[in-house]
Amino acid sequence: MRQPVPHYIDGAWTRPGPDPVVIDVIDPATLDTVAGTLAGTAADVDRAVLAARRAFPVWSEVPMGERVDAVKALATALDTHRDRLAETLSREMGAPLSFARQAQVGVAVADLHALIGAAENLSGPTPVSQSLVVTEPVGVVAAITPWNFPLHQIVLKAGAALLAGCTVVLKPSEVAPLNAALLAEFVDELGLPDGVFNVVFGDGAQVGEALCAHPDVDMVTFTGSRAVGERVARIAAGTIKKVALELGGKSAAVVLEDADITSAAAQVARSCFANSGQTCAALTRLLVPRDLLPAWRTAAVAATADWQPGDPRLETTSMGPLASLVQRERVRRHIDRAVAEGAHLLAGGSGFPAGLSGGAYIAPTVLGDVEPGMSVFREEVFGPVLTLTGYDHEDHAVELANDSVYGLSGGVWSADPLRALGVARRLRTGTVGINGAGLDVGAPFGGYKQSGVGRECGAAGLEEFLETKTVMGARDLLG
Ligand code: NAD
Repeated sequence: MRQPVPHYIDGAWTRPGPDPVVIDVIDPATLDTVAGTLAGTAADVDRAVLAARRAFPVWSEVPMGERVDAVKALATALDTHRDRLAETLSREMGAPLSFARQAQVGVAVADLHALIGAAENLSGPTPVSQSLVVTEPVGVVAAITPWNFPLHQIVLKAGAALLAGCTVVLKPSEVAPLNAALLAEFVDELGLPDGVFNVVFGDGAQVGEALCAHPDVDMVTFTGSRAVGERVARIAAGTIKKVALELGGKSAAVVLEDADITSAAAQVARSCFANSGQTCAALTRLLVPRDLLPAWRTAAVAATADWQPGDPRLETTSMGPLASLVQRERVRRHIDRAVAEGAHLLAGGSGFPAGLSGGAYIAPTVLGDVEPGMSVFREEVFGPVLTLTGYDHEDHAVELANDSVYGLSGGVWSADPLRALGVARRLRTGTVGINGAGLDVGAPFGGYKQSGVGRECGAAGLEEFLETKTVMGARDLLG
């Protein structure tokens, strides 16, 4: 029997005892068990937090130039091992290999470079009023991450925290933890002081909650579902920790009447169906002028042709399975409920896609006649499901787009980019793309409303891990 992946604590891989509790990692394409990790406990969390706490005074004193060099070396390692990481990600969460290389690993490398640029440009002590204002690392950071873009989500947190001078305890998703084990291997080779970066594998109930409650953790940075985000914030409130939350979304694509339908449909389909729809900022509510609905039905269905599910290990596959059977079941239920509530199935559906009878596969699905009262208009599906809704005029489109507890992202299409910008400014979301523009890792990313608190990426993502100190009476002390 293959040994489970052990935790990485205080600069060493922990040795599992004779009968470790193991969490299996399942390939969602084949349903084979590909590996396992140790299931961590509160005692493992204690050891990791203690190591991070001990390392904090050392790491926070390391000059920024050396911290930058370390993170640059990590970015190089990810790039060098791109194929290995992509293969691992594909096995554990089903991303097609080509997509995993570019969008899963490639974006993680770009994330690190953007954070490095921000660290190099971080301003030093600033005179304000009679005082000198300085920034300092928050301290020990617990990072809790999901499975959909697992490496990207880890490096946005760990990369920024390390650059800021914080020490880290990472709890990766138990669904897709193997990329984190590879990352820990690369970090180990950097020769950082022991305890600067630690990984405790396991589930949310044991490891996640122990981290959120731990009195020696100064900050929790969490990416995941709204429901778990609420629980994280509640537990962390017990010790008044800093909490950053990147949660779900129900983002709208607002297509104005002057936009080119075919190209807008292809771009919306890419946003909604790439990564099998498991993207927090996916544009899943397509809002179009009511009198153009017939043309849009045809265009949206036609756009699904580029996203037919298949074997993620084939270079030609654009869409793999969902990340797990659990996720497939959730998505299936959303589709069936939408149809029961009156939505019309225009493409896809809750059964297996043609030619596939096992694995966590689901076809790209388009639902027409979706009304704001339906659950599929309001709840995050986190699968390849696009809803189509007509609007009467521009104000109505904005009202529909904003009719959500979420506020993560959005998109606006128009032949007149300035008109699109005007609409973009009216959407209550943390990011908005104009005419198909997607994630910009150098600019802030995060949510309004119940999509979260705080920002990741670039300078804003680095600043999350800094405290501000006002040294009163010191305005003129630094020349
Ligand atoms: P999830 O909330 O189930 O799990 C996320 C992480 O939290 C995992 O590591 C999990 O083990 C841990 N966790 C679970 N219960 C916990 C608890 N009680 N205490 C502490 N930690 C706990 O989310 P998921 O299913 O892994 O990911 C999908 C969700 O993530 C979607 O809702 C998606 O929108 C969201 N997401 C948001 C962003 C963003 O940047 N806004 C990015 C990606 C994913």
